[in-house]
Amino acid sequence: MMSFFKKIGKCIANLFITKHNTMTNIVLFGKPGAGKGTQAEVLKEKYDLIHLSTGDIFRFNMKNDTELGKLAKSYINKGDLVPDEVTINMLKSEVEKHTDANGFLFDGFPRTTPQAEALDAFLATKEWKVTATIALEADDEVLVQRLLERGKTSGRADDQDEAKIRNRYEEYNEKTAPLIDFYQGQGKFHSVNGIGEIEEVTSRLSEVIDQL
Ligand code: ADP
Repeated sequence: MMSFFKKIGKCIANLFITKHNTMTNIVLFGKPGAGKGTQAEVLKEKYDLIHLSTGDIFRFNMKNDTELGKLAKSYINKGDLVPDEVTINMLKSEVEKHTDANGFLFDGFPRTTPQAEALDAFLATKEWKVTATIALEADDEVLVQRLLERGKTSGRADDQDEAKIRNRYEEYNEKTAPLIDFYQGQGKFHSVNGIGEIEEVTSRLSEVIDQL
């Protein structure tokens, strides 16, 4: 006969399994300026997810002049990606702060294949996984204009100079675009039109999320 404690143990294990299976971890994917941050602000409330934006975390550290901020600044202000090891470690420690979350909305991460592999491996240690990757699609020229507009008010050095913006697109094409194949290979890649009113784009994203 199964002892009482074994039964309790099994119950707890089942609870965990249920929690893992119901966790929704979404990677918001797209070129700089595609609207990931704007949409994440809405979606995090709607689906009760923890929004982790690596760009925001780097900017917070830059503003507070931390060691991480000083390091990141030298890359970000040129429009280059911050090295993988630094970014991956930072992301992991942010996730660790919210292990009781219903799920995460990853915004701006992963941006390279090693980052995507590290994310899968890290989530697996918790028996979690990426549920879906959703890309916001938009034409490069529209995006460059959006970023230059944003640069007028955001104070972001990387948004004020067209050469730096173009460099971010080169980084995207070279290092981030291969992730489309990576997630397509896992059957997790979705994309929606990122052009339109904010609410319109939110409903396109919600349609995908509601079917997961
Ligand atoms: P955008 O998508 O508009 O470029 P972000 O706020 O997502 O803005 O990122 C700003 C900058 O922060 C990037 O250009 C890059 O230098 C750095 N960064 C953000 N996320 C990552 C990442 N996952 N890997 C490497 N660098 C990153």
